[in-house]
Amino acid sequence: MIAENLDKVRKRIADACIRCGRNREDVLLVAVSKTFGVEEVREAFGSGQPDFGENYVQELQTKRERLSHVGIRWHFIGHLQSNKVKYIVPYVHLIHSVDNEHLALEIQKQAERRNQVVNVLIEVHTTDEATKYGIPPPQAVNLAKKISGLHNIRLQGLMTMGPFSDDPNDSRPSFRQIVDLKKQIEREGIDGVTLHHLSMGMTHDFEVAIEEGSTIVRIGTAIFGKRTKGESSQREGMS
Ligand SMILES: *Cc1c(COP(=O)(O)O)cnc(C)c1O
Repeated sequence: MIAENLDKVRKRIADACIRCGRNREDVLLVAVSKTFGVEEVREAFGSGQPDFGENYVQELQTKRERLSHVGIRWHFIGHLQSNKVKYIVPYVHLIHSVDNEHLALEIQKQAERRNQVVNVLIEVHTTDEATKYGIPPPQAVNLAKKISGLHNIRLQGLMTMGPFSDDPNDSRPSFRQIVDLKKQIEREGIDGVTLHHLSMGMTHDFEVAIEEGSTIVRIGTAIFGKRTKGESSQREGMS
């Protein structure tokens, strides 16, 4: 089931790339495994899926401990509390959700302590929805500057979530804002900062995201099915 779903998602990504003249290799698929178990992750990994996204530190820790022998790349995509940073820094591949300087400083501290460099994205809030996660676009440039001065953090790009809607086209304005913001940050010519990645697009809007320039799509439902256990997405976790 998971293997078939993965094939379908890969095909849809490839088709979207063809439609807009992009290289398939330029779009990374992150399988969002939150609320699903070790067996599901194992099955997806066995079907050739190396990148997984998780929202909760505790849940990620449990899966990581039980799957430590396989070459999974773990992405942290949820709201990250500073006091949990130390648990994921040793192995996390990319943190998608840095949205304030305090958090960046804690990542720097933990990474420096271990003599490591941690890859991060800045999460930007691009919708009208009332959420406390993501930095507003006008403040993102400044955060990028601050992060560029932290030697154990490498800023790799930006992340956002489109609005909650049935129509994937409703996500376009969010995605375009992120593309503009990327250009703006690059125009500032911040030392050492090259924004390679735009993490945008989920099950309902990933094709639109690819059309708008996404380089990382974060897909859960289309791969693992509907989540029935306690929800932990950034949006769903808010109510
Ligand atoms: C849950 C979640 C996803 C995946 O959502 P689906 O709609 O299941 O594809 C992607 N990004 C974030 C930040 C999430 O919390």
